[in-house]
Amino acid sequence: MESLFVALASASLLVTWVSSTHLVSLQGTCGGGEQYAAIATRNAATLQTASLAPFGRAEHGWGIYEAQVAATVGTKCASGSKRFAADLARWQSRNRLRVTGAVDAVTLGAMKLRWQNARPFIKSFASGSCPAAAEDQALATIGHREGWLGKPGKLDVRALDALRRMVSAARADDPRIKADAQMLTIVSAFRSPAYDAAKCAAGANCNGIAKARCSAHRTGTAVDLYVGAAPGHSPVDTDDDNRLFQSRTPAYRWLVKNAARFGFVNYVFEPWHWEWVGPEPQRVELETR
Ligand SMILES: [Zn+2]
Repeated sequence: MESLFVALASASLLVTWVSSTHLVSLQGTCGGGEQYAAIATRNAATLQTASLAPFGRAEHGWGIYEAQVAATVGTKCASGSKRFAADLARWQSRNRLRVTGAVDAVTLGAMKLRWQNARPFIKSFASGSCPAAAEDQALATIGHREGWLGKPGKLDVRALDALRRMVSAARADDPRIKADAQMLTIVSAFRSPAYDAAKCAAGANCNGIAKARCSAHRTGTAVDLYVGAAPGHSPVDTDDDNRLFQSRTPAYRWLVKNAARFGFVNYVFEPWHWEWVGPEPQRVELETR
């Protein structure tokens, strides 16, 4: 009887051991030092609950920015994993921030600065100038099937060429993107200053004075792409529910990982807004490990 008990206990231990081995292998390289266990738990919680305002508007959690945070850190691990915390700690160290492994307001603020500085438009806007509107001869007309629900539009010739290559690559890479013919179509392309000013004056879609005075869409290189929309929302609705929904779509996640290869950068507050910044390769951080 006793030996049966020992045998059962051993079997149970074996099952436990096999299970935990399986768990470790499921986490794969996303495990990490035990010193990151508490931080990993905290990151998983703040993802949804932290009071933050990275773009000046109060928000709950950083879920909308999860994909961009992971891409910036250079991690493939889930945001609640120990490895994510360890990778973030390394990024904080490289960027001379307090090394905690936790996503907090200061870390998110540093990332936002980096995201915005990647946009030449913002740099020029911050220095008090506004890029001139694109000349008509620099613009190309988008195809009927390239516009969201057939919407017409014009885009900088070079930006449209890069966009076409990018959308083809996305469709080839991910059947979920290819399955929806509207996915990555153009919701808004070139908009003349006069058009934006008139819309603003009419009281619709003004988005503050900045848009009326100087929108990136005047350059012809900025484009709003359809990356999905939460039920009941327009594809360019800044409501947090909509942005969170969009930040989790395969199309958006693909763009976060791949758009830089085609010369596009994201205005991270708006999952749909991308700016073509030219054919130069994006800067990458040197790995110091
Ligand atoms: Zn836009």
